[in-house]
Amino acid sequence: MAGDVRCTACSSEAVIDQPYRGRHACAPHFVASVEERFRREMHRQMPRFAGGTVAVALSGGKDSAVTTALAHRYFAGGAPTKLVAITVDEGIEGYRPPTVRAAAELTGRLGIEHRVVRAAAALGTTTDKAAEEIPGLPPCSYCGVWRRRLLNDAARELDAQALVVGFNLDDLAQTVLMNLVRGAQVPEREVYLYARLTGLPFDHGECPYAGRAQRNRFREIVWQLEEDQPGTRQALLRTQRELADLLDRPLSAPTRCRECGAPAATDLCRACELLRLAETPSEAM
Ligand code: SF4
Repeated sequence: MAGDVRCTACSSEAVIDQPYRGRHACAPHFVASVEERFRREMHRQMPRFAGGTVAVALSGGKDSAVTTALAHRYFAGGAPTKLVAITVDEGIEGYRPPTVRAAAELTGRLGIEHRVVRAAAALGTTTDKAAEEIPGLPPCSYCGVWRRRLLNDAARELDAQALVVGFNLDDLAQTVLMNLVRGAQVPEREVYLYARLTGLPFDHGECPYAGRAQRNRFREIVWQLEEDQPGTRQALLRTQRELADLLDRPLSAPTRCRECGAPAATDLCRACELLRLAETPSEAM
């Protein structure tokens, strides 16, 4: 940080300002605060976890590298747990291979099992292939859906009690805003700082399709709102949770996808619907 800014907790030199908390933090207090926020979130989401296998999604980028390291630390101190990292290779030339290597380096360092699931083998297609065959659809619209399907399938195969997927606060706030328009997390720069301060290996590369993502518009809106009104991202997330609590009742009978058997809102889940489009691209036009 520029200037002589001091940590609010101990007066050492600060490495980050957190306007939404009204605080500055030095490296040790910042690292401890990230770990505490992760611990609280895990406790909120898995209050009765009594041990077993836990899968963690690890792409090799900073968010998932930090999530994996934090999960490793968190589960080491509790009930006997086998942590398994799952990396999905969607088939994006030039982008995914270095991130898979970074994921392997991290899991080797942490001493945890690492599984790589390749879309080409599991789904019979890749993001690169689909981008060529269905140019009318933004690649993120199917790539993310297929990745979630493959992560869920891999976690089920492992008989995992839970699948831990890390999103930074900025991603979550953008998603909430996107969902609203269409229908004690950690901000992105703090995730980056935690990874740097703790020396985690991760890949800095950007997906070649990222520029086409609809999310970019929402990213700019959220940044602007946060700058004008610190705390907007947390407020968006709180709103979503309050709405989820209010709506926590089945709106219709749960159903299963007729193709793959996964839980779905209609008789064909989104992943299978998109796979069908990739097989018959003319339907996507
Ligand atoms: Fe897939 Fe989009 Fe992420 Fe690239 S940016 S890996 S296309 S979801």
